[in-house]
Amino acid sequence: MAPHPGDETFNEIGQPRFDMKLEPQAPDKETLLANLMKDAYPDAQGRFGPFGGRYVPETLVPALDRLQAGVDRYLRDPAFLEAFHAELAGWVGRPTPLTHARGLSRRWGAEIWLKREDLAHTGAHKINNSVGQVLLAKKLGAKRVIAETGAGQHGVATAAACARLGMPCTVYMGAVDMERQAPNVGRMKLLGATVMPVTSGDRTLRAAVDEALRDWVSDPDGTYYCLGSAIGPHPYPYIVRELQAVIGREAREQMLAQTGRLPDAAVACVGGGSNAIGLFHAFVKDREVELLGLEAGGQGSGLGQNAASLSYGTPGVLQGCYSLLLQDADGQIQETHSVSAGLDYPGVGPEHALLMTAGRVRYEAVGDDEALAALAECCAAEGILPAIESSHALAGAKRLAQAQPGKRILVGLSGRGDKDMPTLQRTLLKGQL
Ligand SMILES: *Cc1c(COP(=O)(O)O)cnc(C)c1O
Repeated sequence: MAPHPGDETFNEIGQPRFDMKLEPQAPDKETLLANLMKDAYPDAQGRFGPFGGRYVPETLVPALDRLQAGVDRYLRDPAFLEAFHAELAGWVGRPTPLTHARGLSRRWGAEIWLKREDLAHTGAHKINNSVGQVLLAKKLGAKRVIAETGAGQHGVATAAACARLGMPCTVYMGAVDMERQAPNVGRMKLLGATVMPVTSGDRTLRAAVDEALRDWVSDPDGTYYCLGSAIGPHPYPYIVRELQAVIGREAREQMLAQTGRLPDAAVACVGGGSNAIGLFHAFVKDREVELLGLEAGGQGSGLGQNAASLSYGTPGVLQGCYSLLLQDADGQIQETHSVSAGLDYPGVGPEHALLMTAGRVRYEAVGDDEALAALAECCAAEGILPAIESSHALAGAKRLAQAQPGKRILVGLSGRGDKDMPTLQRTLLKGQL
């Protein structure tokens, strides 16, 4: 059988053809929204409305079934959650603070609050997911952990979690990315991980995922695959959402404690969608809280100029999951562009596709220049250097503030910008050094 043209991930290991007749019927928007309010997603098939599911070769099914059994057993088990929260408190540094951004509030004419994932260990929210999954790997009896990484942030977080919890770690990374992100390769090695250069395919993130899956298939009992965002086949989007939901739970409590009210709006940047779903999840049922996701608008709306799968994408299957993708009319996945490496992915988590379709979350694209301008404002007004990814969320908050002055806006500041200095030297600081 020919592979689905939109999914190159499983070609060499036998992706079953994605038959458009299997495309699930989407219920109407009101039904989707009503089910959202009942916390009915994902369903037993791992679907978020019409999105999600499992589109994988037969060889992966036993490994995913085993993972699902582990999820059912541990993810809501009090002893597991206690161990997870002990690591979050004692090692990651949670709860992260909620900071009243006085300078940005004055400048933008709104009340801006920052949820400080930049202060989490290793510099971003990714560690929440890595430490949770490595704990799960140990419970499942795995002997080693593997991960894929693009810009290197998920690789660093997973290497750190593995060192902390005493698990051998192998990280697959495209050869092109290894060159572009040399400092993170060094960090992973110092943290004891083996970094495997991937020289096949596009030699970037997508090829690295393929190699990690191949490794996993060859030893599904002894190996745990730690996926880095709310994407991939079921149950990964669910696992990552559950582990990142601590962001929104904390932020919701902190808003109530520090301001006495819920925010009028919560905004976050969306790459694969893990920090955004982590922030939004606690607010989905608070219908009065407006939710806004910001994607990488890059250099424009044309195919290849951005990484905004929700804004400009069409439905299809990528890396085991039915969602919205940046693909051409023949279903070929397109190269993406963003100034922020962490948002540079041609797909998006299925839960975001649902939240958009149900009308609960609005998604907009923020271009490279607008994100960099917001980064500069945050540095100057707050004394905080945010990640370029997070600066897309800041730019979205500024748009909201200008459209609705005086509103109380919660911003998911997903990470710190130290890692972005080489890019900032080429852009904002060009000619100044
Ligand atoms: C990786 C990364 C992102 C994008 O990933 P999501 O899964 O969409 O959250 C955003 N911000 C930072 C700082 C990152 O490192």
